[in-house]
Amino acid sequence: LLWILIPGRVHLVMESTLTARDRVGVQDFVLLENYTSEAAFIENLRRRFGENLIYTYIGSVLVSVNPNKDLEIYSKAHMERYRGVSFYEISPHIYAVSDNTYRAMRTERRDQCILISGESGAGKTEVSKKILQYYATTCPVTDHLSTLRDRLLQSNPVLEAFGNAKTLRNDNSSRFGKYMDVQFDFRGAPIGGHILNYLLEKSRVVHQNHGERNFHIFYQLLEGGEQDLLSKLGLERNAQKYQYLVKGCCPRVSSINDKNDWRTVRKALTVIGFHEDEVEDLLNIIASVLHLGNTQFGEGKNGENQITTEPQLKYLSKLLGVDGAALREALTHKKITAKGEEMISPLSFEQAVAARDALAKAVYGRTFTWLVVKINQSLAFKDDVYNSSKGSSSVIGLLDIYGFEVFQHNSFEQFCINYCNEKLQQLFIELTLKSEQEEYEAEGITWEPVKYFDNKIICDLVEGKHKGLISILDEECLRPGEPSDISFLEKLEDTLGGHAHFVTHKLSNGKTRKAVSREEFKLIHYAGEVNYSVNGFLDKNKDLLYRNLKEVICQSNCQVLSQCFHREEVTDQKRPETVRYTHTHTHTHTHTHSLICHLSVIIHPVKSIRRFDEALVRHQVKYLGLMENLRVRRAGFAYRRHYETFLQRYKSLCPRTWPNWQGRLADGVATLVQHLGYKPEEYKLGKTKIFIRFPKTLFSTEDSLEAR
Ligand code: ADP
Ligand code: MG
Repeated sequence: LLWILIPGRVHLVMESTLTARDRVGVQDFVLLENYTSEAAFIENLRRRFGENLIYTYIGSVLVSVNPNKDLEIYSKAHMERYRGVSFYEISPHIYAVSDNTYRAMRTERRDQCILISGESGAGKTEVSKKILQYYATTCPVTDHLSTLRDRLLQSNPVLEAFGNAKTLRNDNSSRFGKYMDVQFDFRGAPIGGHILNYLLEKSRVVHQNHGERNFHIFYQLLEGGEQDLLSKLGLERNAQKYQYLVKGCCPRVSSINDKNDWRTVRKALTVIGFHEDEVEDLLNIIASVLHLGNTQFGEGKNGENQITTEPQLKYLSKLLGVDGAALREALTHKKITAKGEEMISPLSFEQAVAARDALAKAVYGRTFTWLVVKINQSLAFKDDVYNSSKGSSSVIGLLDIYGFEVFQHNSFEQFCINYCNEKLQQLFIELTLKSEQEEYEAEGITWEPVKYFDNKIICDLVEGKHKGLISILDEECLRPGEPSDISFLEKLEDTLGGHAHFVTHKLSNGKTRKAVSREEFKLIHYAGEVNYSVNGFLDKNKDLLYRNLKEVICQSNCQVLSQCFHREEVTDQKRPETVRYTHTHTHTHTHTHSLICHLSVIIHPVKSIRRFDEALVRHQVKYLGLMENLRVRRAGFAYRRHYETFLQRYKSLCPRTWPNWQGRLADGVATLVQHLGYKPEEYKLGKTKIFIRFPKTLFSTEDSLEAR
């Protein structure tokens, strides 16, 4: 989808409907006089930011700067203002993108997708919520669809409670990736939705870095849960009492009201249609995770390792609905099969702690997936309720993933998150820079290629078959013998040494900014350098849960758990799944929806300080490739169309092409555009299409929607 750019008209409209404040700087970077200057680019952002104008376009890409304060620009009146209005007639807004995507879906009858990119804390999740609210408010709804609308909106607080947490960069950071489809019927009413979740950061359940928290739900339950409920769950109203909640030394956050959020989440669960007993199971599971964290091990009379916290065990068996003795056994022993015989061997203290944490992560992680499945069931388009729209619905997809992040200490979690971002960047490049330039080339249009950094080289480094980082990791996990994190690092060095984007202590030649220690490797990402500690890579990738613990949970009489842990799992002897499989899935799905998108690029000034940090912004402008984007946009052609379609539609405007043009199509089109007053430098004739740099008002927005 390519939006017509009509600079002349923009100025005209700006005179009439935009206020003086709206006119600070340029509202589309394409209009920037000094468009190759990064300084001018940033100055334009800064001036607009100073006036709370946080949105600016680069053609059809929306650039947004996180204001870190509530702006009065999201009211219903604002939504109305953007309905049915052309992109450039009104000041840039996320609502304009939402509305134009919606109209494109309706006129083209094709699925659309909005990609949201930017680093952690940039405002991606907020924007995706605003888009959803826009559709919920402005789209036509009938009575029975209003339930669906409410459920769509209410799915957010639930997913955020279970999947978001306070990090150093964002008090409400998404710790999972989300791709949400909203399905519309032929009249444009929302009729269904579907959420695809990617790779929850499960390790957070058992460990948080300093200054960070566990997932919100734990604190919400402790702060907001009624006294009766807490007693039943065996919990105390004090987060400090729970080992899994104190690692980050950060139980309270000023910007978060856990008590209120608890009420919101409880209400949302009801709106979405969760049964009371499902909610009860859910809370039992949350509480059991806290009890697991407080389960301690110590030495028994005969020197054996045993559980020293009996009350926790009692609550665990009750809340998880499992046999206490079996759980005790499984938390302190493992079952191994040697020479066809099953043997029970005791776990060491460290092993028992690891087994306990693995159980907590598995239970939480699968419960999260269960939640998404349930939400999807409640959002599913029900044919019987409303079958007149059968076969003629379209979807708008919203991709909101965890942003690129770098901490002082980075591990497997950051590696997964940053790899995901690398892939998203690929998609961006594909849609905005690569395909555009390739089309000019394919059409034989003379074109001075704009150079840009293609991060494919980094994606290949990570995901390449056999020689990629993930392949090596998987292989090392499944290798017999004694694979370790360090042996994995050595394999990496052997295989990837010499790669321009891979550095280790041994390979380091002092050129990188931050020194690499002996237990780290460095990746030079498109967005910057990151040192990853290999500690825990193997275990986290294997996601190991001992079989006998799994067996115990599979016997659970808790409904939710029995849906999360199927009995076949322990009887099946399949090759264990590593995290990778979940991961690749992410991208194949995204690609099937890449039917051209609106892109929003969010820039993050500085957390919680309302100051425009120029260095920080410059860094992001650079790595998001915004300057290259602008250059392609400026040099390019805003409008294109196949000769035949173009001639068919506009032939009546010229006596020589009307009623029928006899001859080559290209000649007919040339005759037509010359007649319309286009100068030779204003258009180009390709092999199959006409390209017009800035079309005149004649070609309406609606036309442009079909242009590609
Ligand atoms: P991301 O998903 O990119 O990590 P979020 O969308 O969670 O970031 O935004 C982080 C925080 O920034 C939000 O909690 C909110 O306080 C603030 N924020 C983001 N976008 C806006 C906005 N448009 N208006 C006001 N505050 C915002
Ligand atoms: Mg987010």
